[in-house]
Amino acid sequence: MRPIRVTPAHKTDQLAELVCSNSFKTETADTAPWLLKQELRQFDSLLLSAAARARVPGGQALTVDRAIFAEAISDAIESSPLIELRREEVTRIPDDAVTIVASGPLTSDALAEDIARVTGSDRLYFYDAISPIVDAHTVDLSIAFRASRYGKSMDGSDDYLNCPMNRDEYERFVQAVMTAESVPFHIDADRPCYFEACLPVEEIARRGPDTLRFGPMKPMGLEDPRTGRRPYAVVQLRQENARAASYNLVGFQNHMRFPEQQRVFRMIPGLERADFLRYGQIHRNTYINAPALLDPTLRLRARPNVYFAGQISGVEGYVESIATGLMAGRFAAAAVLDQPLRPLPRETALGSLCAYISGADPTGYQPANITFDLLPPLDEELRRALRNDKKARHARVCRRALQALDAYLQ
Ligand SMILES: Cc1cc2nc3c(=O)[nH]c(=O)nc-3n(C[C@H](O)[C@H](O)[C@H](O)COP(=O)(O)OP(=O)(O)OC[C@H]3O[C@@H](n4cnc5c(N)ncnc54)[C@H](O)[C@@H]3O)c2cc1C
Repeated sequence: MRPIRVTPAHKTDQLAELVCSNSFKTETADTAPWLLKQELRQFDSLLLSAAARARVPGGQALTVDRAIFAEAISDAIESSPLIELRREEVTRIPDDAVTIVASGPLTSDALAEDIARVTGSDRLYFYDAISPIVDAHTVDLSIAFRASRYGKSMDGSDDYLNCPMNRDEYERFVQAVMTAESVPFHIDADRPCYFEACLPVEEIARRGPDTLRFGPMKPMGLEDPRTGRRPYAVVQLRQENARAASYNLVGFQNHMRFPEQQRVFRMIPGLERADFLRYGQIHRNTYINAPALLDPTLRLRARPNVYFAGQISGVEGYVESIATGLMAGRFAAAAVLDQPLRPLPRETALGSLCAYISGADPTGYQPANITFDLLPPLDEELRRALRNDKKARHARVCRRALQALDAYLQ
């Protein structure tokens, strides 16, 4: 619907605009986020091949230049002879046509109301936040130093800028974060419900004086070249685009007022004169209670012509959204072509994600990122043999998943 109708977070009229971090998470082999991406690559995912072409340095993570990425996807969709792109707000789910609802966490109010009508349930909300971005040229490089934790980087270069703090600086900073003035909640003000993996920085700070130092500000694996020692805490800045013209403050999503953000974040050594290109923000997240509504092929049990994909289907994260999009697309195509809908093998990350969405406990349902605990455990004997070697167990789970997917695709 953009740019005809805007959302509180999107800035452009491009398709596949990434609104917060530019990371598709780790490319380290035998991790769950890696497995999900490998499986999507087996399906020739357009979004992952565009991500590879838009890649910028980001340690072990697949981080992309968001402008190049969105442009590649927009071009592909706009130039496809099989797709008619109409830019308008959809306010009603059609009664009989095969439909995929993929309107995301910021689904417009009118459509959300219709989804509530069709699903027979109320909308669900939780809160999330986006982190600030600073102009690279305004970071003081005599203080901030380049390094990846434990020297792990994409190409041997040091991908992050690290702003080191001593104990005194850290304690003053935490105090300022906790006492900064925040933006009031607009919805359900009494009961803000955060997604644990994306907590606002002030919420983390309130959980204890050291929580930030053991969370997004942990100094492990880093040495300040000025002192030759590990700092007491660090703020990591991650490159935002291919020209390295901007950096985001990793893990610094927050909902402080903008002038407060400038005041508080300029206390960070190296950012005393930083220009903020974007401030952190709070945003709404809309998703359905998927296990109460969907089957493993992502369609409504009560209205099998309607599929859900992306964040609104009850997953969290870019890659998980891409994954459910690809799956719902394939299932919907099979339905139209009168082919059988074959759910993905349970051993795969894709199959496990679909199984979680459709089969988890609907009471207090929370959207999921891909993790190994969504996948079935190894058989008892193997688990016992590898009980002291988590890495080997994960490698086995990944190998089993990729073999199952191979067989499925054959
Ligand atoms: C502010 C914010 C920050 C986030 N940060 C991160 C992050 O750092 N990392 C991460 O992995 N995930 C993050 N997420 C979650 C992220 O949104 C998802 O991971 C992913 O973008 C969801 O993809 P999607 O296709 O489901 O939705 P979107 O990417 O939001 O796409 C849905 C599209 O549907 C359009 N739309 C909505 N309603 C209608 C309508 N009625 N008619 C027509 N079009 C409509 C929207 O304009 C939008 O373009 C964030 C979400 C938000 C809102």
